[in-house]
Amino acid sequence: MILNRTVIHNMNFIPKKRFGQHFLIDKNIADKIVNSANICSDDIVWEIGSGKGILTEKLVNKAKKVVAFEIDRDLAIYLKDKIKNENFILINKDVLKLDWDTIINADEDIKIVANLPYQISSPFLYKIENHISAFDSLVLMIQKEVAERIIAYSNSKKYGKLSLKMQYYFQIERLFNVPPHLFFPSPKVISTVIRLTKKHNFPVVKNIDLFWQIINLAFLHRRKMLRTNISVIFNEDIFREIIRNSPVDLNRRGESLSLEEFITLADYIDKKSRVQEFKLTRKQEENADAIK
Ligand code: SAM
Repeated sequence: MILNRTVIHNMNFIPKKRFGQHFLIDKNIADKIVNSANICSDDIVWEIGSGKGILTEKLVNKAKKVVAFEIDRDLAIYLKDKIKNENFILINKDVLKLDWDTIINADEDIKIVANLPYQISSPFLYKIENHISAFDSLVLMIQKEVAERIIAYSNSKKYGKLSLKMQYYFQIERLFNVPPHLFFPSPKVISTVIRLTKKHNFPVVKNIDLFWQIINLAFLHRRKMLRTNISVIFNEDIFREIIRNSPVDLNRRGESLSLEEFITLADYIDKKSRVQEFKLTRKQEENADAIK
């Protein structure tokens, strides 16, 4: 059932582009999203960007507690008035700027459900990584193109840091696509719903900081060989030896290495050498993230 557009207009609300406001108007899709999260009455759920509450109303009926984050004051007031359930908490803040440590309880295993505003998907997912122990699973509607980056494997144009980060921590399933006409206003792109379920055990890596540092560097210049990209963290003598004995051919490009090969490489380098401190600038980080 698609909600009549006049229903959306009833609250005299003009959607704000800067907040990525494309409201889902199909109740069947809302059901499908919420059902995909397998929520039971013990669950704590976070909803990011609750908007007018098409998902929220369903979530509060299933979960023990729903914490919804909404940046838009008008929508926050509207939704607080609309949903009076005791298990519902609305936080009228920018979810990216909020200090999550102040709201996460150590004993909670949180499920996230969200129709994510497009412009925050990558920073939001990187923020999840910093609080990984708090989360159990995520069901996200995101831009199809971002979903493809998350799911991508080596040797594909879309494969990169985001794919490796998410695949390291989660089992990932692509669930279904949602066409633009099921939103108001319609976005220009197709959306995809994915489910990320946290792995019971993350792959074993000897030095996790070094591992991510190598991945950051590997995608700094996608067209360059690994040896060129990672050379900045070694002194020359050590690096020559590393190239000679590396279990992974460093003449390859970073985008051709699987997660397992990055682990093999990082473990080998960790054993071999003391690397020099090298921090990427913000610009370089963004560059490493971009699809080329
Ligand atoms: N969940 C609703 C739905 O499915 O119709 C709304 C989804 S809409 C794509 C994204 C929502 O996220 C908007 O309501 C927007 O105001 C909110 N939002 C955007 N940026 C945000 C941020 N940084 N923190 C919290 N909410 C945000």
